[in-house]
Order: sequence, then structure tokens, then C-alpha cells
Amino acid sequence: DKKYIKLNTNESPFAPSELVERAVAKSCAELMLYPDPECTELRRTIADYYNVKESMVAVGCGSDEILSFCFNAFFHDKGVLFPDITYGFYEVYAELYHIPYTKIPLSDDFSVNVGEYCGKDRNIVLANPNAPTGIALDNGNIEKIIASNPESVVVIDEAYADFSNESAVELVHKYDNLIIVRTFSKSRSLAGARVGFCIASEELICDILTIKNSTNPYNLSRMACAAAQAAISDDEYYKKCRDEVIAVREDVKRELKALGFDLTDSRANFVFAKTNRMAGRELAQRLRDRGILVRRFDTDRIEDHLRITVGSRGEMEALVLAVREILNL
Ligand code: PMP
Repeated sequence: DKKYIKLNTNESPFAPSELVERAVAKSCAELMLYPDPECTELRRTIADYYNVKESMVAVGCGSDEILSFCFNAFFHDKGVLFPDITYGFYEVYAELYHIPYTKIPLSDDFSVNVGEYCGKDRNIVLANPNAPTGIALDNGNIEKIIASNPESVVVIDEAYADFSNESAVELVHKYDNLIIVRTFSKSRSLAGARVGFCIASEELICDILTIKNSTNPYNLSRMACAAAQAAISDDEYYKKCRDEVIAVREDVKRELKALGFDLTDSRANFVFAKTNRMAGRELAQRLRDRGILVRRFDTDRIEDHLRITVGSRGEMEALVLAVREILNL
């Protein structure tokens, strides 16, 4: 009904690079043909970028599809562990596929309790940085979890890793039970194109491709493939965008802290904040009334927190101004 400032689904405030626009336009001339079911060129581009073999990459319709493949391919036998507060789709997929799962409570400061995942002989999925807290585990702790569960599959969902400057992707050369899941939706401004991918040992990728080929062999459109390939080729542009998001994130954290908010040390493209001056539900509604959308969760322990996407500098100034007015600060 009106123009909203959209800070509720962690999209990028920046348009895709011009190279993406051109590549997508060019791909239209061939839309009467099915796309390459192997997505060979895109997989090669991703493999070169991350310094792995093409046979260690699978692509999907968003990283949601990749996660769905992983749950269905690997988690049926031993079930899966994930934190009680994390990306909501993990529980959705476990329920959908009737996979037994255990939710491990985050610590009081919302950090992942690493010891609870070590030597468990269960499959594991962790978002790193975690969502919606934004808190990141360092590679040393990630490696401990992978190394101590050698007979299980460990999925590290790095949807937000480009904003944290740390990635466990190198560890795929050392551990054949690790799957790194990534997306073009956040740091590469392509949420609308729906492209995600994963990097893992050839054996795990082979199983993921079996599921993909048995459900939807043409899971990526020609336009999506063209967009993603072009996005990787314009790395300089996206690095600039990412650096700007990080700079704005740190400024917003500082400003909200100065207004009395409690914040986590988010390393993602969102902040996770709470004030004791107003219930989260009311603050989210009052922001909405002013045309600003943020995300709130009806989950124990975090019902008063807001997850606020880092938008453009102008959008975040509007957010801070609205918060000040609503809270009379
Ligand atoms: N993982 C996490 C942690 C997310 O927050 C999201 C989406 N917000 C996804 C995966 C899925 O993203 P997409 O399907 O757009 O790649």
C-alpha cells in the first residue's frame, strides 16, 4: 500500500553489477532452449574462484534448494543437530523429510556452544555467521566440530560469510565430510535470481547431484546462470558493495548502542538488537506504521529482538531517526 524501506529479508541495497544486466539480457536470445543441466560454465567459474575442482561444486535454485538436497541426501540415518536459534528452514526441512533432529541451545550470550557438537557422531548444520544473531565462529572451532565427527556430514551454511571475512571453504581439501553452502542472494545482490551453491568432496557432490537430477535436472534458468557467472566476474564491484555494508553495519551498531540497545557482534549484513524501553512486537509494528519493515521472531529468548537488515546509508539514517522518534530519544 506504500513504499516501504525493506530491512526484513537481508537483501543487498545495491543493484547487481552492469555486467550482470548485460549477461542476462544476452541470455534471453536463447530462452527457447533448455539450460545446460550440468551448469558446466557456472560450476567452472565458481570452482576457479574458490580454487577447487569443478566436480566439487553443485548449484541450486537459491541455497535453500541446496540445503534441502543436503538434508534429503545425508541426514536420514543419524539425524541432525543444529542450534535452537538459527535459520528456521533447518527445522522445516527436518520435519518435511521426517529426519530426527536435536536443537542445541545457544549460550546465554547467543554464541554456539562448540563442545556440544564435538564427538557426537551426528550430522550437523550450522550457519556461520549464525542467523538471526550474526555471531560468527572462527575456523579453529569449525574445524574442531568437523574433525571430531568424521563419520557424519557437517554442513556449514555461509550465506553471510562474505560480510565476516572468514570462510571454512579451504577445509574442504582436508575433510571429506564437510559441505560449505553459499548463496548469491546477499553479498552478490542476486536474491531475485535464486542461485546458491555448495562446495564439498566429489563423493558428497555426486550424491547431491543424484537428488538434483532425480527431482529437477534444469534447476537453474539460463538467466540465473548468466547472472551468477557475470556476478563472479565483477568481483571488484561486489567487494566495494560489501565493504560499504560492513561500514554501515558498524555505524548502525554504534548508533543503536548509543540509544541504549543491546546488540550482538553481528558479522552479517544485519544487526540483531533489543531495547528494554519497548517490547519487540510493538517496536516492529510502530516501525512498520512508518514504512520501515524489520524482522521479529516469535521464538523464546528472542521475542524482543529485532533483526534489521543493513540497507543503504540513507535507509539506516531513516531507521535510526524513526527509532528515536518512537522511543522519544
Ligand atoms: N541460509 C541462511 C542462513 C539464510 O538466512 C538464508 C536466507 N535468508 C538462506 C540460507 C537461503 O538463501 P537463498 O535461498 O536466497 O540462497
